[in-house]
Amino acid sequence: MLLWRTATQVVVEAPAKLNLFFEVLGKRGDGFHEIETLMAPIGLWDTLYFEEDRSGQIRLDCRQAIRGLPGEPIDPPDTQLGCVPEGAGNLVFRAVELLRQRAGVRRGAALRLVKRIPVAAGLGGGSTDAAAALVAANEGWRLGWSRRALADLAAELGSDVPFFLSGGPAVCRGRGERIEPLEPCRAFDFVVVRPAVGLSTANVYKACQPAGKPRSMVAILDAISKGNAARVGRLLFNRLEPAAVALCGELARLRENMARQDFLGYGMSGSGTCYFGLCRHTRHARRVAGRLQATGVGTVFAVRGSR
Ligand code: ATP
Repeated sequence: MLLWRTATQVVVEAPAKLNLFFEVLGKRGDGFHEIETLMAPIGLWDTLYFEEDRSGQIRLDCRQAIRGLPGEPIDPPDTQLGCVPEGAGNLVFRAVELLRQRAGVRRGAALRLVKRIPVAAGLGGGSTDAAAALVAANEGWRLGWSRRALADLAAELGSDVPFFLSGGPAVCRGRGERIEPLEPCRAFDFVVVRPAVGLSTANVYKACQPAGKPRSMVAILDAISKGNAARVGRLLFNRLEPAAVALCGELARLRENMARQDFLGYGMSGSGTCYFGLCRHTRHARRVAGRLQATGVGTVFAVRGSR
């Protein structure tokens, strides 16, 4: 997550994530699932602009851009990016409101969110925006809260939100909120495909069968620490994938299409519907992305791992 200040605004770039490994250990008494996942931020991001508003109101203007590179938002929005709630339904709004309450702030905020991350796609778009909103408001209102204190609020907003505060790839446990950052490692190149359909995370979990014998993450962590992309490719895993494919016929076709590409490995991110392929280098990713885009599979991005 990148943050900078202009004369009047705080600007935050909020990255999407991929799940390179996702195991479901079981269902807990509180309704959440116990998971073990390896998440990596990627260079596809939303941009959040925060400006203090002395009227005391919180206002949010949300619009969709078309691609992962920062630049001019394109209107009308690309409908494939899905439907993002406006106002109080948006996680950005809820995050800023929550921090304002807990910090006892009376000042308001004018927020502008430019969305590039597809919605309901397993890329953590809402969660990263919520994390960005906490960081932006903390900076914009000059509250001086530590990352640790913000992480506690983040966990109230959603299981994936604390991950985005930590920066860089991490192993996430519990319901996803217990974060163990990885040592700095090589940035890998990916192609991400968002088909024209989305899936609700809750529905996918409901349809998922937790592991009888949980798969270990040790081997993929070792491959990542050694920068061995070919081995990482062979070890990608997502326990939610069979459930997502069973719920959405289009995913089976996308999966077959991904299998035909010369990826080092491919998999589904989070609860879907995005698939990603691991590439040898940036040129390889661009080449495959161009080829896939031409087949009309959906929205295609060539991206690198980021912080
Ligand atoms: P995850 O990978 O964390 O399960 P996801 O990528 O599948 O999440 P999101 O894009 O985060 O899904 O969207 C989940 C829901 O959150 C959407 O249905 C959307 O209505 C709601 N939402 C609220 N705020 C936002 C936001 N700022 N951006 C995107 N979706 C949001």
